[in-house]
Amino acid sequence: MSLSQQNAIEQNLQNVREKIAAAAHLCGRPSEEITLLAVSKTKPASAVEEAIAAGQFAFGENYVQEGVDKIAHFAGHQPALTWHFIGPLQSNKSRLVAENFDWCHTLDRLKIAQRLNEQRPASLPPLQVLIQVNISDEASKSGIALHDIAELARQIMAMPHLTLRGLMAIPAVETDYARQLEVFGKMRDALKDLQNICPQADTLSMGMTDDMPAAIAAGSTMVRIGTAIFGARDYSVKQ
Ligand SMILES: *Cc1c(COP(=O)(O)O)cnc(C)c1O
Repeated sequence: MSLSQQNAIEQNLQNVREKIAAAAHLCGRPSEEITLLAVSKTKPASAVEEAIAAGQFAFGENYVQEGVDKIAHFAGHQPALTWHFIGPLQSNKSRLVAENFDWCHTLDRLKIAQRLNEQRPASLPPLQVLIQVNISDEASKSGIALHDIAELARQIMAMPHLTLRGLMAIPAVETDYARQLEVFGKMRDALKDLQNICPQADTLSMGMTDDMPAAIAAGSTMVRIGTAIFGARDYSVKQ
């Protein structure tokens, strides 16, 4: 990686952090409430290393094996890195997620929760999980309906090797700020409802490069940013 690209990641991270701070300031929230996840899918370990050098320690990955490879590459790093699985999870890949990641954002059915719970090594802290909600995109197969959250939440809460931390959503692409806010507002309300049965649920994972300000205004506590940090992805080399 050339020197100019290295500087680009550091500069991009600084820009994203400033945008988070500005969006938080606008709605009167402390920016420390909002965790920046750097989404490093399809990017090489060298890019992750540059982000680490710029003070970024939380990363999101979509593809199980790619994520596991990077986790192994950076094993034992101090300060500790946090690895979040944010991609669709098939049951035949659940063991790798249970054994390697710190968080899983895309829990949307009981069977996967049961497998993760069984497969999470007892030597590790519980896997921190979010229920993925299908908030706006009826055509999407990922995520559960709002009215199904409570039932799945109760089932997860009975699992000793999982800790339910909140909700995640990937809304349909929407460029209008007011409409983004409306959709994210439904997630904020859903988290409040969830907190009635699960007080430890403190996390709303929502907001990507193009809809981050609205997500923060609606109460997001974790934004997932890829392109604005690492640049455009080249899918021809991955998958
Ligand atoms: C790729 C991805 C992101 C990051 O998207 P950008 O548009 O690159 O910021 C965030 N969340 C999920 C679930 C993703 O798959």
